[in-house]
Amino acid sequence: MQQAYRNEPFTDFGREHNRLAFQQALDLVKSQFGKSYGILIGGETIHTAKTISSINPAKKDEVLGFVSQADIGLAEKAMATAAEAFESWKTVPASERARYIYKTAAILRRRKHEFSAWMVYEAGKSWQEADIDTAEGIDFLEFYGREMERLAERQPLERIQGEDNELAYIPLGVGVIIPPWNFPLAIMAGMTTSAIVTGNTVVLKPASPTPVIAAKFIEILAEAGVPDGVVQYLPGAGGEVGDYLVDHPLTRFVSFTGSRDVGLRINERAAKTQPGQKWIKRVVAEMGGKDTIVVDADCDLDLAAESIVLSAFGFSGQKCSACSRAVIVEEAYETVAEKVRARAASLTMGDPTDYSNYMGPVIDEKAYRKITEYIAIGNEEGKLLQGGGAGSQAGYFIEPTVFGDVTPTARIAQEEIFGPVVALIRARDFDEALDIANNTEYGLTGAVISRNRERLAKARETFHVGNLYFNRKCTGALVGVHPFGGFNMSGTDSKAGGRDYLLLFLQAKLVSEKY
Ligand code: GLU
Repeated sequence: MQQAYRNEPFTDFGREHNRLAFQQALDLVKSQFGKSYGILIGGETIHTAKTISSINPAKKDEVLGFVSQADIGLAEKAMATAAEAFESWKTVPASERARYIYKTAAILRRRKHEFSAWMVYEAGKSWQEADIDTAEGIDFLEFYGREMERLAERQPLERIQGEDNELAYIPLGVGVIIPPWNFPLAIMAGMTTSAIVTGNTVVLKPASPTPVIAAKFIEILAEAGVPDGVVQYLPGAGGEVGDYLVDHPLTRFVSFTGSRDVGLRINERAAKTQPGQKWIKRVVAEMGGKDTIVVDADCDLDLAAESIVLSAFGFSGQKCSACSRAVIVEEAYETVAEKVRARAASLTMGDPTDYSNYMGPVIDEKAYRKITEYIAIGNEEGKLLQGGGAGSQAGYFIEPTVFGDVTPTARIAQEEIFGPVVALIRARDFDEALDIANNTEYGLTGAVISRNRERLAKARETFHVGNLYFNRKCTGALVGVHPFGGFNMSGTDSKAGGRDYLLLFLQAKLVSEKY
């Protein structure tokens, strides 16, 4: 009997033995710096002359490893191998596929801190954020394994006289998996295993800033016994290899998490039927957000400030769920703005290997430049209340930044920044606050801080986001508890960690037998 699903607990770093264990994991990972990671196709590791260096965003001159880069020839080989492997993998019973995933989860759980430590170095995550990422990765594996077993059960159909009817969910084919760097373990692992536990084979193109953590995950899939050819690990340039994979006639679906622009590009390219292509490609896209916390006058003002600060600055605001706008009802504005400013000012920032730092760097040079440009725009559009500067030049550090008196249509109130910047906006009353909250092209997360039941009821109905939270932060969706995904330009509302998710990688076949 399968154990009931439950979320992986987070590590309590208040306890000394946990801190010691984590420090040991950091040391272990550090001793592995400088290794080379090859491409994996059909179980064969291929090292190429062209590599990218994975670097520590907190210490730009620290190289973590060298990762081989695929070209079109290897992308073609990966597709052909995945297509061949599909013929056997699709015949493996669902429960057996699920077991590989449970084994992978068990290995990941055993080596939890080691994986988190990689994320501290490669993504610049704080201990806590890295631990949350690993726990979510374990959750996805456990949840999707069970979900596949559920979907493999006999599906309920109405019965009619003289017929035996059966509906089965069967896999699609070869999928291209393009995960983001911001949850380089959880989302990458969730996207990969949801696709394979359903019987598909995949080509995984890891995010360029975080390829090593993906390579480590691929190692444990093999250790758990996932057959060769089920997952190809294919690092490469998005504009070259990514496009090639998306365009390929053998690609049956693309599962993508990342920016709006790349998501739309993939959607357009995938829509074009290629010579020899026999299906309409499915695109599952999880894109950006411009997420808002609405603060009512009748609320716990400290809770409001805390929710804004945690949602805006956790992992330096580099979550598509991050709060990048707070719309505050006039009566509460000054108090909440001051509380947010003060809390932001008290956050510690620095090298995330040091447990005492709440915020690390942003991911890379490109992000650093983009965020800095938005801060310059913010200085024109609003009033700088806190931050706005850089930190140590050893890495890509940007201070937690708060702008006040931003108008609802300002660029920093509309465009996704993906960094530690939050815009505070005044609203005349609660209704106007909700209108402002809905005035972007996105619709991913949102929160409302209020004690008023009527207003909460109104928000429940009209705040148009995929994940709406009341009296709490708008980040930190838990697998199985808060299925995650948004509306409009935030993506295809594919609810990762929810009970509809696996159906995106399956098709239903009905067999009816007359007797
Ligand atoms: N699921 C995450 C959360 O709820 C965000 C995922 C993302 O940033 O892509 O915070």
